[in-house]
Amino acid sequence: MTEPRATSQDTPTREHAARLDQADPLAGERKHFVLPEGVIYLDGNSLGALARNVPTAVGEVLRQWGEDLISGWWDDGWWNAPTRVGDRVGALLGAAPGQTIVGDSTSVQLFNALTAAARLRPGRRVLLVDAEGFPTDRYLAASVGRLLGLTVREVPMAGFAEAIRRAGDDLAVVAASAVDYRSGELWDLATITGAAHEVGAVMLWDLCHAAGVLPLALDAIGVDLAVGCGYKFLSGGPGAPAFLYVAARCHEQFDQPLTGWHGHTEPFAATTQYQPATGITRARIGTPPILSLLALDAALDAFDQVDLAAVRTKSLSLTDFFIACADTHLAEFGFEIVTPREHRRRGSQVTLRHSAAESIMTALAGAGVVGDVRPPNLLRFGFNGLYVSHVDAFDAIAAIRGIVESGDY
Ligand SMILES: *Cc1c(COP(=O)(O)O)cnc(C)c1O
Repeated sequence: MTEPRATSQDTPTREHAARLDQADPLAGERKHFVLPEGVIYLDGNSLGALARNVPTAVGEVLRQWGEDLISGWWDDGWWNAPTRVGDRVGALLGAAPGQTIVGDSTSVQLFNALTAAARLRPGRRVLLVDAEGFPTDRYLAASVGRLLGLTVREVPMAGFAEAIRRAGDDLAVVAASAVDYRSGELWDLATITGAAHEVGAVMLWDLCHAAGVLPLALDAIGVDLAVGCGYKFLSGGPGAPAFLYVAARCHEQFDQPLTGWHGHTEPFAATTQYQPATGITRARIGTPPILSLLALDAALDAFDQVDLAAVRTKSLSLTDFFIACADTHLAEFGFEIVTPREHRRRGSQVTLRHSAAESIMTALAGAGVVGDVRPPNLLRFGFNGLYVSHVDAFDAIAAIRGIVESGDY
């Protein structure tokens, strides 16, 4: 074992967990979230917990609606919310203002981004996607391929560098997830982006499992396009709108397929022809879900006072500790740790493999520990450092051990 939290001196006991929590500079953030008593919530990578200020903020939007009616679009700033909240998300992505928009679902943003990315490279015929990526990403890439007459090449991430080289100047777009939703593996964004650019392709990252949980550097790395969820580690709420990042240098050529009136240069002029707005505004589509968008806006307050580097440090400490506990307390029961142990290859979840994953997770939910299962045999545990503690990690492992020891699943 080479990880700092997992040495033999640091036996993963509950007392050790409590000591780590005492020394945790982010321990105070948990009070900003509403978490049910007696529940250990390790599924914030699927649906982030409710931030305490969100109900008040949503109540305020309802008041605006009730009192201001249509004038809320201007008087309450609803109209500019997609770009204003977009900039707040952009700050978490390493994106300078004016390059990130919020609105619509991840799936819609992916369709828009994949199509627009391909249109940035007319004449090139290959779209490279991760063969093990999230289903919606692969389904949408296949559809965009059919729509534009492109060859979609599905290759596992481990083979990306080679696949990029092989496709060469026929490669239009490389689309991949920064973190594998099943294994929790974090990929090297800079290296893959560099490889895509070497052959002149457009790089599109899906940041669903990366946004809000580790520092990103989209501008510095030179990423072209990125999309991601509002409801996972950003805690924007169920169905929170997703974000789209378009690097400033791509704005002028950015030609999205969903040419809604909010992306028009003069949305109220009712002109007969679509004329895209300048800047990131051209990535707007239609009327955004304001209630959800402003719930996300309020949830983002959680990041105002914290540094993503500190969130990352905490996340690695939690996952190190969880892995050390699993090594010590679960190895004899047929669990295998799927998530890479190297920090640079780990997102913010730990995945365990077990043949009885489904029934163990059901029993675990009964014991108040919430994670989730990805078929056929993976148990996923997500760690949001803003509200998960080391004691939570220890107690979750103890609950799993209790279940498999008793055979009660
Ligand atoms: C969660 C997730 C999605 C979800 O897409 P929706 O349109 O919000 O349902 C898409 N892609 C990845 C990689 C995800 O992790």
